[in-house]
Amino acid sequence: MGLSLGRESEYNNARIPALDYRWPACACRTQTGGATGKINVMFSERTYIRKTRYAAQLFFLLLTIFIGYNFYRFVLHFINPVYPYVQRPPSVDAFLPIGGFMAFKYFLLTGIIEPVHPSGFILFVAVVLVSMLMKKGFCGWICPIGTVSQYFWMAGERIFGRGFTIEKHTDMGLRSLKYVLMSLFLILIGIAMTPNMMVLFFITDYYKTADVRMMRFFTNMSAVTMWVLIALGILSLFYKNFWCRYLCPYGALLGLVSLISPVKIRRNAEKCNHCRSCSIHCPTSIDVEKKEVVSSPECFGCMTCISRCPAEGALDITFRAGKKLKVLRPYLYPAILVIVFYMVIGVGVLSGKWHSQVPNEDYERIIPQLIHVKNGILK
Ligand code: SF4
Ligand code: SF4
Repeated sequence: MGLSLGRESEYNNARIPALDYRWPACACRTQTGGATGKINVMFSERTYIRKTRYAAQLFFLLLTIFIGYNFYRFVLHFINPVYPYVQRPPSVDAFLPIGGFMAFKYFLLTGIIEPVHPSGFILFVAVVLVSMLMKKGFCGWICPIGTVSQYFWMAGERIFGRGFTIEKHTDMGLRSLKYVLMSLFLILIGIAMTPNMMVLFFITDYYKTADVRMMRFFTNMSAVTMWVLIALGILSLFYKNFWCRYLCPYGALLGLVSLISPVKIRRNAEKCNHCRSCSIHCPTSIDVEKKEVVSSPECFGCMTCISRCPAEGALDITFRAGKKLKVLRPYLYPAILVIVFYMVIGVGVLSGKWHSQVPNEDYERIIPQLIHVKNGILK
């Protein structure tokens, strides 16, 4: 008997046997809505899906803060050796996705992993591979910026008692911004930069301390940066995932990559009662109730739609195995996502391509020129 990830899918026009795993939390409600007016529904919310996601997001957010704090201590030591030395956390390179993309192109052309920020390359590969296999799940389950963005719109909904939406055509126009930004990076790095140009860039002090510069971007914020962040924060209170939806070029790239993912949300029209709960609660404003298959590059696999669906068998997360469609058990989706993500990192660690090869002497030379302490704050 083979390993079962799910069950045979009704989307292949076969019958789906009722399975207990689908309904771990049940509550009965009366619901009003739909074309037929008042409908009584045995409302079975799979809240565990949302709770699991919130827990995963919080975990990765706290992990990011911990990594950032350790990197801060690492830099502090090179400004003033009175502070104890801590090892540089390689995962901080996750904040250099452009460097990761450049290193990825360099690897494709030369077969060499650049040694300055190798973990940036590993993390880039991990995130892209996760998106190819498991949709844009990185954005929905791991990315700390997506999590903070989500906290903002959730807070906004509490403050204002409702969410706000942008008019359809304006929304489409704004969504194209992230693709414009992504295209700029693809042209500048993916097309214009040759391997020789990249090598010349990799050996500069600028690139060696790109992580320190990124930190200084926040610790020594310019007035413009501060006002831009405040504006983004305010907009994020009103509109769901404002940064992710309209401006993140990394998310735009992952969304396009995710189109080839075998994993998709599917709606079974025969079982759907058209309550629109899925569409109303989708954090990326996808009109799930109108789709048979959600193939949008905006879908980040949060499964909020499944979690909110009251009709058993109407919404599932499915994957294609050869010619057959299978329904994936919801709890397996984040499990596979995290396993794939950490497997790639594990390969990087075991192959010795995780830690930067920049010697501490370089940090001793460059960091004091770049950053200093004023009133206890790194400037
Ligand atoms: S369609 Fe479903 S899984 Fe995709 S973003 Fe919307 S709620 Fe999340
Ligand atoms: S798929 Fe589920 S949540 Fe969406 S409209 Fe149909 S019954 Fe409602």
